[in-house]
Amino acid sequence: MKLLEGKKALIFGIANKRSIAWGIAKAFHEQGAEIGFSYGIPQLERRVMPLAEQIGVSFVEMADVTKDEDITNVFDKAAAHFGSIDILVHSVAFAKQEDLTGRFVHTSRDGFSMALDISAYSLVALTRQAIGLMSDGGSVLTMTYYGAEKAVPHYNVMGVAKAALEASVRYLAADLGPDGIRVNAISAGPIKTLSAAGIAGFRKMLRYTEERNPLRRNVDQDEVGRTAVWLCSDLGSGITGEVVHVDAGYHILGMPEPPEKWE
Ligand code: NAD
Repeated sequence: MKLLEGKKALIFGIANKRSIAWGIAKAFHEQGAEIGFSYGIPQLERRVMPLAEQIGVSFVEMADVTKDEDITNVFDKAAAHFGSIDILVHSVAFAKQEDLTGRFVHTSRDGFSMALDISAYSLVALTRQAIGLMSDGGSVLTMTYYGAEKAVPHYNVMGVAKAALEASVRYLAADLGPDGIRVNAISAGPIKTLSAAGIAGFRKMLRYTEERNPLRRNVDQDEVGRTAVWLCSDLGSGITGEVVHVDAGYHILGMPEPPEKWE
């Protein structure tokens, strides 16, 4: 029996074949889940539809997560299509380009609110709608990064948004646990995607972590996907409010060893 046989999952945040959400979708499909997609802007349709076809996904809807009417619309349609759902995946984030470079102290009020709204509040907004369709308990999963815990060059306002996101995971988990709904996050190491390309110096970041990670390599979308299966399937039934690092071990390092050894 496949791990997600009989489960229905709604996945937000597929932009293209490099998206982490696509890695999760492929892993869910391999494990027998019935899947629906939601993507953020109309221009992505031509990239998302072929991916949906590749794994037999027929529910594909656009929703800008800053718009309550878009969110209500996609969940109304999901209710009509699926009846109920078991899994919500939130793999959505955005910050203005100018706020992902230079000095954090220059973050504008507008840029701060936008990053927090799209990257953190949207988890609360989507979860509120999703629980209405989770008649038999469920699992919510979001994507975060180590920049929530420690200051990382250029990650800036997105680090603050991810800290809010991780705190939201804990509050949602405490709130929804009595209803049998689990809420967790995966903290992925750097992976080359569309969003990541917006972070100044991202290529250097990839090289830095590859050379210093305990596993001496970076992670990929498929490894995140497999961890998502674990967390969202019954294998993860006792886990909620957790942030699981899929980062080749980077977060355990107090002082990363440079490639040229110190001894
Ligand atoms: P991605 O660009 O493929 O995915 C980001 C998604 O957010 C896109 O699909 C985009 O359309 C969507 N989005 C942005 N604004 C939106 C809005 N207003 N409404 C609806 N959707 C919107 O990049 P990714 O790297 O796969 O990012 C997915 C998640 O993983 C993000 O939360 C990101 O912060 C997180 N993450 C990424 C990395 C990395 O190195 N790539 C590491 C850790 C965590």
